[in-house]
Amino acid sequence: MDLCKTMHRQPEHVMIFLLAEMGTSGSLDGQQRLVVKGRFAPKNFEGILRRYINECVICNGCKSPDTILSKENRLFFLRCEQCGSGRSVAPIKAGFVARVGCLKAGA
Ligand SMILES: [Zn+2]
Repeated sequence: MDLCKTMHRQPEHVMIFLLAEMGTSGSLDGQQRLVVKGRFAPKNFEGILRRYINECVICNGCKSPDTILSKENRLFFLRCEQCGSGRSVAPIKAGFVARVGCLKAGA
């Protein structure tokens, strides 16, 4: 969960994304560690986490992870703290059941 602090993201948000992508359920324990039902290889987590970072964290302009995800008028807006650029993030259409993207997880 240190990673969440680095990314300026709520552990709950990251958790919802991970769980949805893996199609499983789980929760955070007292130490803010993610407890997931089922068996998953660390490799799986890495891949999903990388996608989360690409979709929900990294700035398109300067590739900085120092961004804030906020919700404005039902749109999600990713604003970069480094270069000041922003982009709105369109909700990802759920083609597959588990595919929620960073937005439906609800920032
Ligand atoms: Zn930037």
